[in-house]
Amino acid sequence: MSITHIEHIGIAVKNLQDAIPFYENILGFKCYNIEEVKDQKVKTAFFMVGQTKIELLESTDPEGPIGKFIEKKGEGIHHIAFAVKDIENQLKSMEEKGVTLIDKTPRKGAEGLDIAFLHPKSTIGILTELCENKNK
Ligand code: ZN
Repeated sequence: MSITHIEHIGIAVKNLQDAIPFYENILGFKCYNIEEVKDQKVKTAFFMVGQTKIELLESTDPEGPIGKFIEKKGEGIHHIAFAVKDIENQLKSMEEKGVTLIDKTPRKGAEGLDIAFLHPKSTIGILTELCENKNK
């Protein structure tokens, strides 16, 4: 396994406008990117913390994954994302080890990363994302 670091922590919020000031004014991070990911029905805001990012997720559709998550569980940590090398092979080897994959092949996520989710059934309750930055 070649996980290099925690790429980001995804946090579901009701709206970015209310959440961003806490991260900027209280924690002192700078929001450096706001991006809509239509595919996942979310608007995201990013903060850098060392080499790890905080990714705030606001739903753009109550039927989307974040909309449903907030309805069930409220605001809070939604997923953890690990940076990996060779994401296709990592997915294949995890599947061989019995991990249930949500994405069998990577798709494009925010910031142009290749991402894939593992099913929380297989990850002891934490929705887990693998991602690889192939642009650098
Ligand atoms: Zn993510």
